[in-house]
Amino acid sequence: MELSRSASPFETPIEYLKGVGPARAEVLKKELAIFTYADLLRHFPYKYIDRTRFYKVKDIHPEMPYVQVIVRLLRKEIIGEKRAKRLVVQAQDDTGQIELVWFQGVTWVEKSLRVGKAYIIFGKPGMFNGRPQMSHPEMEQYSPQAIKRQGNLTLQPAYNSTEKLKQFSLDSKGIQKLTTILIEEYARYLQENLPQYIINKYRLMDRREAYRQMHFPDDANKLNEAQHRLKFEELFFLQYKLLKNKLYRTQKFKGNIFDKVGHYFNGFYNDKLPFPLTNAQKRVLKEIRIDTQRGVQMNRLLQGDVGSGKTVVALMSILIAIDNGFQACMMAPTEILASQHYQTVKSLVGDDFVEVALLTGSTPKKQRKIIHERLLSGELKILIGTHALIEDAVQYKNLGFVVIDEQHRFGVEQRSKLWRKNVVPPHVLVMTATPIPRTLAMTMYGDLDVSVIDELPAGRKPIETVHFYESQRLRMFGMMREEIAKGRQIYVVYPLIKESEKLDLKNLEEGIETMRREFPLPKYQISIVHGKIPAAVKEEEMQRFINAQTQIMVATTVIEVGVNVPNASVMIIENAERFGLSQLHQLRGRVGRGAEQSYCILMSSNKLSNDGRIRLDTMVKTNNGFEISEIDLQLRGPGNIEGTQQSGVLDLKVANLATDQELLMQVRKCVEDIFEKDPQLTHPENQILHQASQSKNAGLSWDKIS
Ligand code: ADP
Ligand code: MG
Repeated sequence: MELSRSASPFETPIEYLKGVGPARAEVLKKELAIFTYADLLRHFPYKYIDRTRFYKVKDIHPEMPYVQVIVRLLRKEIIGEKRAKRLVVQAQDDTGQIELVWFQGVTWVEKSLRVGKAYIIFGKPGMFNGRPQMSHPEMEQYSPQAIKRQGNLTLQPAYNSTEKLKQFSLDSKGIQKLTTILIEEYARYLQENLPQYIINKYRLMDRREAYRQMHFPDDANKLNEAQHRLKFEELFFLQYKLLKNKLYRTQKFKGNIFDKVGHYFNGFYNDKLPFPLTNAQKRVLKEIRIDTQRGVQMNRLLQGDVGSGKTVVALMSILIAIDNGFQACMMAPTEILASQHYQTVKSLVGDDFVEVALLTGSTPKKQRKIIHERLLSGELKILIGTHALIEDAVQYKNLGFVVIDEQHRFGVEQRSKLWRKNVVPPHVLVMTATPIPRTLAMTMYGDLDVSVIDELPAGRKPIETVHFYESQRLRMFGMMREEIAKGRQIYVVYPLIKESEKLDLKNLEEGIETMRREFPLPKYQISIVHGKIPAAVKEEEMQRFINAQTQIMVATTVIEVGVNVPNASVMIIENAERFGLSQLHQLRGRVGRGAEQSYCILMSSNKLSNDGRIRLDTMVKTNNGFEISEIDLQLRGPGNIEGTQQSGVLDLKVANLATDQELLMQVRKCVEDIFEKDPQLTHPENQILHQASQSKNAGLSWDKIS
């Protein structure tokens, strides 16, 4: 096919690559989303197989990737029946014994293996009952020729493939043939996309070489260098975009200047604030003060654990806005939360101090109209509500400050819709009670400034967390009775996870029955809230609990976000092992809001997966949301952390925010330095960044034929 001189060869449709053609192109698109040469180039091996070395049984351990060992088979045995059927083979070399296991193809594998013969086995080492084990190893009968054949190989790429692709001879080996052609014929069109001084400073591998080594590494060191280079590049352009946006925004959008602190702030601070601020709260207020005096629009993320006192910081910032002649609004993700914020703010500022209104989807039309009018006239200073706040009909006289609670429910679009509510866009404070690790914050909210409240108000008793097994259920009932006798309230939460909805519902229903039996009417009242209950009833049940008409609230995770019932002192989580860490932490945050000692009881079955145990142990060990979020990131990887879905985190192909934290910090600093020294990137050395950053596909569409 003819390539125009200005085109990037990497944008060529994949069917034109030698050895592909229309039929294979179709499956490559369908199965692996490989549409172009660039996509194939970036279809990196998911692992590399080191077949240069032979290990001894005594030297292998579970942290090793893939190893190759020569062993003699001692005996083989099929154990279990039907779905639990497995083949267990004992084998040994002169240093020790290893167990080999198959769960699939059991009969067939059993037939093919010869006891007493030597084999070259290859696989991922594991440990079972303290002894070396390997499941589903590749097996080849030992012979001098076989050894010689293996010895010639280096690190072999292994590519992801699918059954469908295999029908078109595109298994790992088949794909390797394509990448070989691609690298041989097109790698030379790859051009450098980082400034030379950066490459020198960070000792990065040449880009062309890096792609080549990724697919066909010479050795482990070269592979490491190549991965490092491409990770660097990937994180670099992600941070580059974020920081450039931020810079662009601060240049483009002026910000209202709040240079006065007056009647509203001082009146509140001196006469109404019911407690001394924590140092963390003071620090964040200072940060906001500085931001709002610079003449640049503020976009700040406020992270703080549940109960750390974000609301009061938001309110005091709002009062400064009002002191400077502006209006403010506060947006929450649900009606209940919005109305709780409204109640909180009302009770903090008291009547007649400043006009506050609540606007949600269920505000009656007449009321709504009044609010609209008073907003336009400027009499209404503080508006609290749900998404209803950003509807086009809602016009402000002079909106200067916006607070968004629980960020992850609001998209970037909604944020920017708010900006358009005033000629000069309002300052924006985003609050989230889901602490996320620094590296994630840097990437998800890399264009925002981040404040952290890392300190709970004084005198708050840390929540005591215990982990009970089913056998300790009576103890749990006992604790419940004691707390209720003291006048406290209790949450009981059940998992409701889509895949097993039927089973979960059954659990929930049985749970409710048990609770009713243990805590009978009329002495005890129970609120019940779950997805199958009509919204109106749900609302009423919540209200009954909030008003302390019921002592127990049995619920699925609907209560996860927000609700504030200071009198609730016990959080019981059923099947706790099935919840994610951040969810557990959020749920626990529902209690411990009053002055009383609070408890969180994690109920689990006796059988726990390794991760499940780590999660529950972590919860028992610490109340610190940031610590918990770090562990969550390590356990689940960045893609599964809440809120990452819309961010660029998932587009990362080489870098991993859980394991490459140090590199990310380094890259962020590197990009910050570049913009600090050369904001417009006018320096000749930085010219390269203009072009490179504009192309999608990791800069590959920029690699032109020249
Ligand atoms: P968050 O929104 O961060 O979860 P809130 O703002 O709802 O936390 O505050 C939790 C509780 O702590 C509220 O009842 C609030 O009045 C109280 N509070 C906030 N700051 C302080 C403080 N400095 N000292 C004592 N109590 C505080
Ligand atoms: Mg809150």
